[in-house]
Amino acid sequence: MELEELQHKIRDCKKCELCKSRKFTVFGEGDPNAKIMFIGEAPGFDEDQSGLPFVGEAGQVFNELLRHINLDRKKIFIANVLKCRPPKNADPTPEQISCCSEHLDAQLLIIKPKVICPMGNFATQFVFKKFGLTDKITGIMKLKGTTFNAKDSYGNDIVIVPLLHPAVVTYNRTKLPELQKDIEVLLYLDE
Ligand code: URA
Repeated sequence: MELEELQHKIRDCKKCELCKSRKFTVFGEGDPNAKIMFIGEAPGFDEDQSGLPFVGEAGQVFNELLRHINLDRKKIFIANVLKCRPPKNADPTPEQISCCSEHLDAQLLIIKPKVICPMGNFATQFVFKKFGLTDKITGIMKLKGTTFNAKDSYGNDIVIVPLLHPAVVTYNRTKLPELQKDIEVLLYLDE
């Protein structure tokens, strides 16, 4: 299946109750052949209103982080664990995550990224469980900015780099240098 076909399929998803409160599903965006895929938690207000990932306040921080390492937003793919906004930006529930996971699974199968950067605890746990790193799961503060080797569903080598969620900086601007330092890990990965 092509990415565009998957996007159409997901647009009208009614698998969970979040379909009732959403304005748009947020499929994700970027290069279908991206080598690096960033995975956030769930759409917020601005993403729900626009149907696009990371366009609100956290998105501005995310853009700043990409600029810091000179990474073109058009050359990556950006997705979320949940495709619909939980009302009041509540934490995703285990039920919502398991309901929505088939969409992210399908995106990963099509895009086949070589590097996956889950941002925040929810995305990191999702990615670690999916790629056989369950025994390595611990708090994001211990995992962030570190590389983990794994195999994708095709048996290819991939690298997983957990990062703090950019929203952290929207609550506390002094955290920006820490996130900048963490994302610099991407500069030193082998081609
Ligand atoms: N936070 C996320 O996790 N994802 C978005 O798309 C926006 C904010």
